[in-house]
Amino acid sequence: MQPPIIGDRVRLESHPNARNCAIATLSLLPGSTVVVVPSLANVLLPLEKGHRCDFCFQVSDAQRKLRKCTGCASYWYCSVECQSLQWKNHHRKICKNYSLFTSSSSFQTLQSHEKLDALLLAHLLAQESVPDPSLPQDNSLAISTFLSLLPGPQTLDGLKIPLPNLKPAIPPEIASLVYARFSNNNFAIHSHLTTVGHGIFPLASRLFNHSCYPNAAPKYLFTPTGVVMEVVALRQIRQGEEICIPYLDPAMLQTRHQIFEFTYGFKCTCSSCVEIETFNIPPPPDDPDELSAISKYLRAFVGLEGKLSDLPEKPRGTIPQQLHCVFHETYLSNLSEVFSKASHESQYELAIEAGVTLLGAYILIYPPNYPQIGVHLLELAKTTWNMFVILETNRLDTAPASKENARAFLNMSRNVLMTFGKEGDDGGPLSELETLQSLLES
Ligand SMILES: [Zn+2]
Ligand SMILES: [Zn+2]
Ligand SMILES: [Zn+2]
Repeated sequence: MQPPIIGDRVRLESHPNARNCAIATLSLLPGSTVVVVPSLANVLLPLEKGHRCDFCFQVSDAQRKLRKCTGCASYWYCSVECQSLQWKNHHRKICKNYSLFTSSSSFQTLQSHEKLDALLLAHLLAQESVPDPSLPQDNSLAISTFLSLLPGPQTLDGLKIPLPNLKPAIPPEIASLVYARFSNNNFAIHSHLTTVGHGIFPLASRLFNHSCYPNAAPKYLFTPTGVVMEVVALRQIRQGEEICIPYLDPAMLQTRHQIFEFTYGFKCTCSSCVEIETFNIPPPPDDPDELSAISKYLRAFVGLEGKLSDLPEKPRGTIPQQLHCVFHETYLSNLSEVFSKASHESQYELAIEAGVTLLGAYILIYPPNYPQIGVHLLELAKTTWNMFVILETNRLDTAPASKENARAFLNMSRNVLMTFGKEGDDGGPLSELETLQSLLES
């Protein structure tokens, strides 16, 4: 079987445990593109319908008004070009029967994620003629690459997902083959860390194994020719090194194991999972003094006490036992809640302490240059700036130090976010960076 067409920076090799792995064919700097993969099919989340173009996913605004499809009144487009491309792709086969399909009882009884799958399946089947899997495949076709993926672990006990009324009709066994590859191969398409839709990117599924501490990550670009995934190197990747991406948010420290087992059908043996497995993660203590001592220890361990200028790296060596509870999901969610609540209530000292502690946890959990770290640093910069404004208004002599801290957080945030680069909608964290920068310079 000929290998799928990939590009010049990555190649497929055999792997001892997984089916294959993606190997860097050359040394890649942080922020460089590993591969660009167009979506084979995608679907907007229900909340985003009428708010984004159904074809290119761009948000509507004063310059970009959406027009509704007059046939079904259920798809919206930002331009004639988007509408006509989607019409040719699949909408011409779906438009007429769309309301019948989505109002049918078999569709209505589905759970929300199954409804999304049903629509994605409808888009894909209306668009692609699925090749007979028993015949030799042409792997330059994305649909053949998709069918070459391993099916998910859930056995398909009859196709619960309804099929659109297509001509010619799709045999249920073919639809089954496609659907069986959905659960473990769908990507959440996001803009600035918010999921806006789901899509399939067969080449990315074929190439990249998962790691909870990956050296690359996908981002999404909304282009006039459709939604595109770009896989970006998070750190320097050596020639010959395996390139992995995260299938899930690495901060899902406890729930991820069940999801890997039941949705993806594998046990993760990445460096993070191997490390955490030995912890037997305890819940964080209830006693506020004990909790505060752990947080102080965490900040010191990561190197976040005192004056900050550069973002520390994850310390080498084993993580002390006192810090194992940091890997409990409730520790992260509580800190995050304290940080945002205190920021909103102008309790800046409390907010910044919680925010810096959370940064310490992120440095232990996320790989360098992971976008969550950059976005969190931006929030810290904004909170510190707000604190500076209050201090300066009250002519307190701690104001200059606060301004310096805001600048330090902003610079760290910029380094991370610029490495990951522009993604998703216009605006977002990269333009917020510029706004805060100009305030700091004024
Ligand atoms: Zn569009
Ligand atoms: Zn329509
Ligand atoms: Zn893992």
